[in-house]
Amino acid sequence: MGGRRPTCIPLVEDQPRLAKGVLQRAGALSPGKVVEWRWEGSAPGLTITTVAFKGGFMLRHGADEVAVLTRPGWLVCPACAGLCKYLLHYGGRWTCRRCSGCEPAIWHRFRTVPFHRRRTILRRLSKVPVLSQRGAELRRQLREVDRQIARKLEARYGGKGK
Ligand SMILES: [Zn+2]
Repeated sequence: MGGRRPTCIPLVEDQPRLAKGVLQRAGALSPGKVVEWRWEGSAPGLTITTVAFKGGFMLRHGADEVAVLTRPGWLVCPACAGLCKYLLHYGGRWTCRRCSGCEPAIWHRFRTVPFHRRRTILRRLSKVPVLSQRGAELRRQLREVDRQIARKLEARYGGKGK
């Protein structure tokens, strides 16, 4: 029990993050400014240095160095050049959430709890026409989640036979 993870997909919440807002509030984006950043908790001992230039900063991590550009309110992901609010450190790289492959924990919490999923499906179902294709698909999902719930109840409270 206890520390068991419901999924082996890397979660956003578990990875060190460097957010635009945090950089800004620390004054780390003023050209010439050098700031050392440390992480504790999930990444004890992780240390990087940012060196700001006009329009971005160099991110030094051990022997690696990567230029990260900024836009008003955004960081530019060094891997895909997409705009993002924060970079995640995962798999030895600093990238946006999508490039990191990490997913928010909440996605998985809902995915793995059939009661929550049932409620979500019912909410969606209440918004689509009964005869629509989408409605048929949602009713199919509902039957499936009901089967999952039945199996879970059976596993917990004992079913017929076994
Ligand atoms: Zn990216």
